Amino acid sequence: MQVDVLIIGQGICGTVLGWYLQQRGISFIIIDDTWANAASQVASGLMNLVTGKRMVTTWLADALLPVALETYAAIEIDWGIHILEETTVIDFFATSGEREVFEKRMEANHEYLYAVSNEKFWIPFFNFYHGAGYISPCWILDIQELVKQGAQIFRQQGRLLNTRFQFDQFTTAPDGARYMDIVANVAIFCDGVQAASNPLFSALPFSKNKGEALLVSIPGLPRTNVFQQRYKIVPFANELFWVGSSFEWDYTTVTTTDKFYKDAVSVLERWVNVPFSVKDHLVGERPSTIDHKPFIGFHPKYPSVGILNGMGTKGCLQAPYFARNLAEHFCNGAQLHPEADIKRFQRILSR
Ligand SMILES: Cc1cc2nc3c(=O)[nH]c(=O)nc-3n(C[C@H](O)[C@H](O)[C@H](O)COP(=O)(O)OP(=O)(O)OC[C@H]3O[C@@H](n4cnc5c(N)ncnc54)[C@H](O)[C@@H]3O)c2cc1C
Repeated sequence: MQVDVLIIGQGICGTVLGWYLQQRGISFIIIDDTWANAASQVASGLMNLVTGKRMVTTWLADALLPVALETYAAIEIDWGIHILEETTVIDFFATSGEREVFEKRMEANHEYLYAVSNEKFWIPFFNFYHGAGYISPCWILDIQELVKQGAQIFRQQGRLLNTRFQFDQFTTAPDGARYMDIVANVAIFCDGVQAASNPLFSALPFSKNKGEALLVSIPGLPRTNVFQQRYKIVPFANELFWVGSSFEWDYTTVTTTDKFYKDAVSVLERWVNVPFSVKDHLVGERPSTIDHKPFIGFHPKYPSVGILNGMGTKGCLQAPYFARNLAEHFCNGAQLHPEADIKRFQRILSR
């Protein structure tokens, strides 16, 4: 079988890249092994442009956001699905110091921060002693639905093989790549954290980390907002809320832990004023990078092998922009974003 592009991995990166290639009439095949702990299977799907305790606007937000909104809206129409909701995060300050940081940033005209006008409304639902602020607008992407529907559509089109990609069956030459009976002009790895053990890209400075979350039923809590304190409470599928998450860099297995479970439940017990019950416990790995910038582009030694990866904690916001950038680079030689282009690691990849 001859195709233009072989994609390895169908998390959010492989899904959105496939959609962009399809829009441009480029033929492709995707191979994915449906790993349950892939980041896209466990993420809450929040797109928040303000991050960290210092309330800093995220890198490249003005460029990333319009492409993300435009892409998901177009996919919704194309695939007949609903995956994006606009929302507001209510940030409950844990200390008076947190409140001061928020207020200072708000006074400096931070475009996404606002005072909460109706704090009293939330008293029946939450215990909070230092006030709260709004972060708005934000969006929740139903990332699991995006990936699930993508899989269904690509499978129906004969473009998805659900199997594990084996490196010993893969060969590459300057003008193409071959995997079993698939001959492609290029192969693009969208394999998430597994790229850290991919022989072609393992030299890249990944900083993968493990994250856990609980799926919780809280029938008395309005589903109008995302609530944030030490953990976030995010409206999720099946009338549940996603509660998380942890960040762990030092681990040997990608399994759930009692430590996170107990901690998240005790945070909820102290914070939430309405009854809740835990329904599920999720764990996944984030494909983060040491310099917090994605990895996109083609291998300096193997020009027919590319990568779209390293989305870290912001896959929903970043994947559309960088998938489109890579698709345009492949189709008509558009310049890759210099801060994301893996050219910055040319020396280590050329060894
Ligand atoms: C707990 C948690 C919460 C998160 N919350 C958010 C959030 O709220 N907002 C946000 O924007 N981001 C969030 N993220 C980060 C986000 O999930 C990631 O940035 C994003 O999903 C990465 O997508 P990806 O496609 O690069 O990788 P993945 O989702 O890991 O997908 C890679 C795919 O490749 C497949 N694969 C790998 N190797 C092979 C192989 N050899 N053969 C076949 N298939 C293979 C895997 O099965 C998988 O399907 C969160 C992550 C975690 C873990």
